[in-house]
Amino acid sequence: MALDFAQNTEYFGDSRRLCLLRVAGAKGSMNVFKHIAVFNGIGYDSNVFLLDGEILVDTGSGTRFPILKKGIGEKSDASEIKTIVNTHCHFDHCGGNKKFRSWLGAEIAAHRQDKPFIESGINTMAELFKEKPLVSTVDKELKNGSRLKTANFSFEVIATPGHTPGSVCLYENEHKILVSGDTLFEDGIGRADLPGGSNAKLYNSLEKLSRYHINYLLPGHGNVKVGGVDFLIKQMLSAMNRDLKI
Ligand SMILES: [Zn+2]
Ligand SMILES: [Zn+2]
Repeated sequence: MALDFAQNTEYFGDSRRLCLLRVAGAKGSMNVFKHIAVFNGIGYDSNVFLLDGEILVDTGSGTRFPILKKGIGEKSDASEIKTIVNTHCHFDHCGGNKKFRSWLGAEIAAHRQDKPFIESGINTMAELFKEKPLVSTVDKELKNGSRLKTANFSFEVIATPGHTPGSVCLYENEHKILVSGDTLFEDGIGRADLPGGSNAKLYNSLEKLSRYHINYLLPGHGNVKVGGVDFLIKQMLSAMNRDLKI
């Protein structure tokens, strides 16, 4: 199975906390796993994943739409993309929603708890990036335990509140793949100090993730991580235990 990974990520500051300051230096796209392509986020833009040519995960801030459109068009038959999943409501993950939907005609799916933010722009943190919120409607609500099926995969939706109230991860059991948004990165966890965030909820979400076996971590920023993910989650839980005295 062809595996290929981004290597050039740099970080500013405390990478365990400051997900929003991550800079992914790797350009272009690559196949992380057979049938899964990553389009690396540049600057504050999130990574964008194309799962099995059918599900697009996150749309970035929208500023890189023309480049992403070209890359995705080269990698796939765009007419096959039926669903756009927002891992959570932040601007760097769903600012491109409207542009992608008008191109693909795909439905936008997000958790009920983040839906009002995506639709209103509130708590999307656009101001942090010195941008105006870009809103879009959410067509489909994702629930904990629901499944998103493609030709080759079945992804389980895992509700992982903490970074935002409606953050979700997608888990594929056969190959042990986790698409983690800003809940978990290759070497840390997302911030819980932004509006709607909760350290206690993030801790519980990580505990929930610790019950899954994960070989491949596909995070919202930075590099894909292969192996050591279960250990990483344990490390994060004990660090949080220490810091937060939970
Ligand atoms: Zn975020
Ligand atoms: Zn982010």
